[in-house]
Amino acid sequence: MTDRPVRTRIAPSPTGMMHIGTARTALFNYLYARHRGGTFLLRVEDTDRERSTQAAVDVIFEGLKWLGLEADEPPVFQFARADRHREAVQELLDKGQAYRDYMTSEELEAEREAARAEGRVVRSPWRDADPATWPDRPYAVRIKSPLDGETIVRDAVKGDVTFQNASLDDLILLRSDGNPTYNLAVVVDDHDMGITHVIRGDDHLNNAARQTIIYGALSWEVPVWAHLPLIHGPDGAKLSKRHGAQAVNEFDDMGYLPETMRNYLAKLGWGHGDDEIFSDEQAIAWFDIIDVVSAPARLDWAKLNHLNNHYIRQADPVRLAGLVAKILKSRDVKLKQGDDALIARTIPFVRDGAKTTLELADAVVFALKVRPLELPEKTRDQLAEDELRGRISRLRDALANVAGWNVPGLEQGLRSFAESEGVGMGKFGPQLRSILAGGSPAPDLAGTMTALGRDESLGRIDDALSLPA
Ligand code: GLU
Repeated sequence: MTDRPVRTRIAPSPTGMMHIGTARTALFNYLYARHRGGTFLLRVEDTDRERSTQAAVDVIFEGLKWLGLEADEPPVFQFARADRHREAVQELLDKGQAYRDYMTSEELEAEREAARAEGRVVRSPWRDADPATWPDRPYAVRIKSPLDGETIVRDAVKGDVTFQNASLDDLILLRSDGNPTYNLAVVVDDHDMGITHVIRGDDHLNNAARQTIIYGALSWEVPVWAHLPLIHGPDGAKLSKRHGAQAVNEFDDMGYLPETMRNYLAKLGWGHGDDEIFSDEQAIAWFDIIDVVSAPARLDWAKLNHLNNHYIRQADPVRLAGLVAKILKSRDVKLKQGDDALIARTIPFVRDGAKTTLELADAVVFALKVRPLELPEKTRDQLAEDELRGRISRLRDALANVAGWNVPGLEQGLRSFAESEGVGMGKFGPQLRSILAGGSPAPDLAGTMTALGRDESLGRIDDALSLPA
């Protein structure tokens, strides 16, 4: 544990996509920082110059923004700090904690083979060379790792993980082209950013041993480590494309809400008793890294859908209408003036069954149709018969006289009409629904008519009645 004010970070490499595992790591860092009243930071690890395009960096910004996990301070870009990384390497050289390694690539290859044959790690003959003997040719800089003893990574999730120093070679800090290596850059950046807790995927556990040695050599305080188990697919295999989705934006595209993702991802590897649904405030109040479980977490689509349905039912209809309008536009549906308001009015009647905003978009299509609606053939055939035509015509008048155009008023109106006709609702309900929705899915009749409004509902019925008999 550390007494310093808590500072955590997410440190993604711009690859062009933001993996859901990165999103969960960001969330845990965010929750822990908030829980401890600390600061959550973003570092873009953009040292791979080919992959680190602006578009790839934007994917990270957009992913974090969408998730509601924006950093508290401006982002740090790793590549821009290369001089500072080289400065730290110089410090290690000056302290005798690092050395120049002049092995040529042929020599290194030969040493690798010898090491393999002898069952040991690579050792450079330059490790103990007198700097006075350093030749004038390209070199890499390696750390002088302890040759024996152990390095212990004290991990808040995994417990103490022990590495035999004899199994760790002298890590390269600076390549012969002058570029700092990943492990060096991470340590210097985390130190300079004041990071107290390094919370990340457990694919970095081995790096933690390397990094612990670098911290020691620089006499810097080692952060608290917390390595998170990976996220697996429902079948227990590492999450990949074939599981349906793995990038944050894919979940957005599939119609999941960011608050669903926060709640769901918090549950992947952490939990608070049996609580399935909790708010951001509750997660912040409850979250602690020591409660993270070390077994891999499995993505469960049924649970995700259940949660998304919950948050869709909770969300502000106006906000949902904006999301639905975007989906409809992407499907080339032309929206008219006022349609946003119509969608927002319709949402409360259709959202109970929606697992995603895509389903919500399907469910409002009936309301957006433009008169006269195209009716299913069956409805047209039925309307050609006098009996139904007469009944729908009388129903139209009854509805026009309903006092309050709202769900209770319309339900009452429909019930009284059925009574006055001496028939059950089944004798006209399905047909009325078909007339009002043009054969598209629609909620119950009172809800449908409330969403459409009086004029539009009566207009749609009039259109049906004016079809040739
Ligand atoms: N850039 C590394 C990654 O994307 C993360 C490094 C870290 O968190 O220390 O996996």
